[in-house]
Amino acid sequence: MFDAITTFSFPTRIVFGVGATRQLPACLEEDGVHRPLVVTDPGLRAAPPFKAVESALQEGGIQYEVFDAVHPNPIEEDVVHAAESYRAAGCDGVIGLGGGSAIDVAKATVVMARQEGTLADFEAQAGGMDRMTGPYDPIIAIPTTAGTGSEVGRSSVITSHKLRRKIIIFSPWLMPKRAILDPQLTVSLPPFLTAATGMDAFTHCLESLTCPVFHPLCDAIAIHGLEMVIRYLERATRDGRDIEARGNMLVAASMGAIAFQKDLGATHSLAHPLSTEFALHHGLANALCLPAVMKFNLEMAAPHYARLARLYSDSSASGPQDRDAADAINMVEVMIDRLGIKRGLRNHGVPRESLEGLSESAFADSCHKTNIRPCTQDDLLRLYQESW
Ligand code: NAD
Repeated sequence: MFDAITTFSFPTRIVFGVGATRQLPACLEEDGVHRPLVVTDPGLRAAPPFKAVESALQEGGIQYEVFDAVHPNPIEEDVVHAAESYRAAGCDGVIGLGGGSAIDVAKATVVMARQEGTLADFEAQAGGMDRMTGPYDPIIAIPTTAGTGSEVGRSSVITSHKLRRKIIIFSPWLMPKRAILDPQLTVSLPPFLTAATGMDAFTHCLESLTCPVFHPLCDAIAIHGLEMVIRYLERATRDGRDIEARGNMLVAASMGAIAFQKDLGATHSLAHPLSTEFALHHGLANALCLPAVMKFNLEMAAPHYARLARLYSDSSASGPQDRDAADAINMVEVMIDRLGIKRGLRNHGVPRESLEGLSESAFADSCHKTNIRPCTQDDLLRLYQESW
């Protein structure tokens, strides 16, 4: 037993609290960044979070550049153009301001500002990690959604131009030096995106808890992350100004990504092609596929799901307390409904005839390889059909 040597590591410094954004100049100074590139998307450029960051930088007397052309489900061109801006302006660090899309582009920018080649050369499942010869310039991440947890993660998810699918680049060098979690910056996130990004955090916690890798530290974080999402996501969705709910969701999202250093599962393999082919929001795609994957995994994941059912029971004063594993699936479905997410891929522009092709892409995605129950491509097709 325990013959395999494992490393447990939780290194990101997290600055948390209302107004934490004002600490940005001090963080930049500590990390030796004098001319950062702020990487964000056009929607955020016009929204309150950008103004908060801009005023912190101006008050700190920091010279900065802005790249604000990140797409949702970002594409390789975003990284290419951000890296060009970075080099042209002589930047020495990035600030990823936004949801997972902006933060992932910021992470990939410091790599591509220094390395030759295309993103496909660095894809994790093709051994790309060894080709990333960091350290790279510092990354500071300021999330404005509470979902992906990219601010504490070692990966960046971008659609590769060459491979025409989402790829994951992964390296310890991609870990942000600092994550600034300011609940105030998530107040402007609309209800649908609050719900969808929150379901991303939930899926991270659940898939990492069930994935069969020995990591009891991550398991504990995943369980508490699930509890926080159950308690606070609906509140944050109903009232975006509920700072207690917003703050807890921000932390839960980071916990989800800390937990998934263990790895993920089949839901993520199903979700990735849905974003590439049909531009579905990533958290939404997870929410739509998760119940079918839970049913598929039920027998093998029963102890985890029984625990999840208890978390739901503990969070509500009413209802029976002696829930079992199968109840958890129903509770997840009820939660998705209460968040206002319409279940069924058919309701989100995914044609039934596309499922076969999607299942090929899902099988090529690496996340299902750590699903608690091994999946064939036919299994993935059936999971799409059930989610349709
Ligand atoms: P996103 O970054 O694509 O943002 C979605 C939309 O929300 C954008 O239009 C943005 O302008 C808007 N928005 C964000 N914050 C806002 C705010 N506070 N107020 C108003 N509008 C706001 O969405 P996301 O779910 O955070 O990120 C999804 C991406 O992250 C996907 O590409 C996914 O693959 C990736 N991802 C990465 C990781 C990782 O570990 N690197 C993990 C999960 C997902």
